[in-house]
This record gives sequence, C-alpha cells and structure tokens, in this order.
Amino acid sequence: MKVINPGSTIGVFGSGQLGRMFAIEARKMGYRVHTFSPDTDTPTGQVADVETSGDYLDLEKVETFAKSVDVVTFEFENVPSSTIEMAGKFCEVHPNGSVLHTTQNRLREKQFLSSNGYPVAPFRHVRSIEELHDAVSELGCPSILKTAGFGYDGKGQSKINSQSDAEKAFAGIGDSEAVLEGFIDFEKEVSVVCARSTKGEFAHYGVIENSHLDHILDVSFVPAAVSERCYSEATEIARTLVEQFNYVGTLCIEFFVTSDEDLIINEIAPRPHNSGHLTFGPAITSQFEQQVRASCGLPLGSTGFTSPAVAMANLLGDVWASGEPLWTEALFDQRIKLHLYGKTVPRPKRKMGHITAAGNDVNEVVELVRNARNRLIPTT
Ligand code: AMP
Repeated sequence: MKVINPGSTIGVFGSGQLGRMFAIEARKMGYRVHTFSPDTDTPTGQVADVETSGDYLDLEKVETFAKSVDVVTFEFENVPSSTIEMAGKFCEVHPNGSVLHTTQNRLREKQFLSSNGYPVAPFRHVRSIEELHDAVSELGCPSILKTAGFGYDGKGQSKINSQSDAEKAFAGIGDSEAVLEGFIDFEKEVSVVCARSTKGEFAHYGVIENSHLDHILDVSFVPAAVSERCYSEATEIARTLVEQFNYVGTLCIEFFVTSDEDLIINEIAPRPHNSGHLTFGPAITSQFEQQVRASCGLPLGSTGFTSPAVAMANLLGDVWASGEPLWTEALFDQRIKLHLYGKTVPRPKRKMGHITAAGNDVNEVVELVRNARNRLIPTT
C-alpha cells in the first residue's frame, strides 16, 4: 500500500466523538478531514475541514465523497457494506469491509470467534419466540437477549430471569433477529485497545479496567488489577485476532474476567473505543493517532503512558440534569483534563464528554476523576 502523506485528505464515515478526536489528531499531523454521516453540525463536522450530510445508502453521494478523499476510515462500524464497497472503488479503505461485516452483527461475530477457538459466552441464535424458549431451556437463567445488529451500550438488550420473561424480552428487542447469551458472573471487565499497521506492526496499550453503570462505560483506568497471566493472554488474543483479520487501524476487544481470571470476549469494536479515551493526552500516541497512522500507511507510534496510572470518567448528559456543570469546581485541580464533544443537547445517558487524570497511583487517579465529576454537579 502506498503511504498517504500529510497534506492528503482522510474521509471518515460517522460523525460522533470518536471521529472528532480522530479529526483533531489528523489535523495536528497536517491531514485534511472530510466526514460523511446523515447529520449536520456534528462533533466530527465541527473540527473537520468538510462535513457532508448524506444517507449512507445514497451511493452517488458516497461516490462523490470517496473521490474527494485519499483514504476512508470509520468511527462507527454499522455502515452498510454497499457503502463500503462503493467507497473502496475510488480510494483506500481501512479497516477492510470484511472485518466490519463480521463485527457489525453479534451473531456473525460470536460464530467467527467460537469457530476460531476464542473464548465467548455460550450463545444461541434466536429468530422466533419458540426458539427463544428453547434457547432459555438450554442455556438456563439468567441469560441475556441481545439484538444481532445495531446494539451498543446495552441498547437492544434484555435480561431473562425465567421462561416467563421470554415474551416481554422478545417484544422488547422488537421481535428482531437476536442472540441469547449465557450470563457471565464476571469479577471485572477489561479491554485491550490495540493497533496494527499496513506493514503488520502491532502495538497495544496493555489491559484497561472498566466499570459500567446501567450497561454504559463509567470509569476506565490503567493499569488494570490483573495477573501477569491474564495480561499476557488478553494482549495475545488481541495480537492473534488482528493478524487473523489482516486488520489495519485501531481495534478494541472487551473482555469479562471471571473469578479464576479466565477471559471471555464480550465484544470487538473495529475502531477506537471509549475505554481508550484515556490514551488521548496521557499516552505518547493516542488511539486516534494510531488510527491516523495505520490508515495512512505510516509506522505506529509508541503506546507508552507518560505516567504510571491514568483514569478516565465519562460525562453523560445526566451531569447536566441540575443545570450547567460547575466547570471551575472540577478544573481547579490542575491534574484534571476536560474533553467535551460539542454536543448541544445533554440528554440523559448521552455521552457528552469525559475527564482524565494521570498520576503515580491508580486508586488516586480513579478517585480524582470520580470526585471531579461529582463536583461538576450543582447541589442546590
Ligand atoms: P454490550 O452492549 O454487549 O457490550 O453489554 C454492555 C454491558 O452489559 C457489558 O459491559 C456487561 O456489563 C453487561 N453484559 C453484557 N453481556 C453480558 C453477559 N453475557 N453476562 C453478564 N453481563 C453482560
């Protein structure tokens, strides 16, 4: 693959916060950025050179977009495959369409992982209420029903505690194609954010520990409290997987860790990931810069952190519930760094931004970001 030099234009499908942070890194390196999504005045569009608003299935618009850029990447994996094929006729596309095809559907992803010997929760394909009853009998309770496509942050999911929950759960996910997953009684959740270049170089940020609230990522930190064995297994799974996919770009694997420190893959995100936001600032090369470098055929950068411990806390729209957050209260501590995504409507559960802190002790930095976030919320 040819190197796409600074000064060239990178196209991004999707226009949320991941695209925004990607665009910031790309522009820092002298690239131009053109984003394509159905929306306008988006988090990515606000910092890109050009924002095109169009339907992903408007293939004429996709063609015009692809002809105007040197390489296309994604900040969101649910772009239709016809869109990717069209773009691929006119420019380089990283990561490739086949990895998106596998990972944009939970069933395909789980079938791929289990048939290649990767550890996943027991699962069953569910297309009807009868199949759901059978699957619940086989996997037992509790179990979790998830839509096969377009699910994230616990959306399109329903916990089943007994056969009598099946009907409601199936209706709740819209009677669509689904996967029933055995419930994993995990000890903790971790992720590995990694990158692979066009030359096959591999780099990772170690194991990141994540805590969720209502199925949405709340706080992430490094180093994760896991054994050396668990650390090397998680990073080896990441290496094997990106090689198998012949992957180019940044990718995240989310894992459950059991009480015996066995790893179970929950999900693969073929893009930068929320848990990797703690690399943006505290790491020598952020997950977004790695995506720029990989998509443009450049060598990867160092994944070292400049401090021994780093934490990140998400700021959801809920932080705005009692009025404008008290920014000064959070930022008077000089170790707190604020990132906001340019979204104007702070709906509950909507990811509006995040804060990070770096230091010497992991418990201390986690406390720092949690306390800073608490201070944002007006008390009267
Ligand atoms: P997901 O959207 O599939 O990443 O799920 C969001 C969150 O729901 C995960 O991070 C877990 O906290 C929880 N979850 C999902 N699947 C399972 C499972 N099979 N067993 C236990 N908890 C789960």
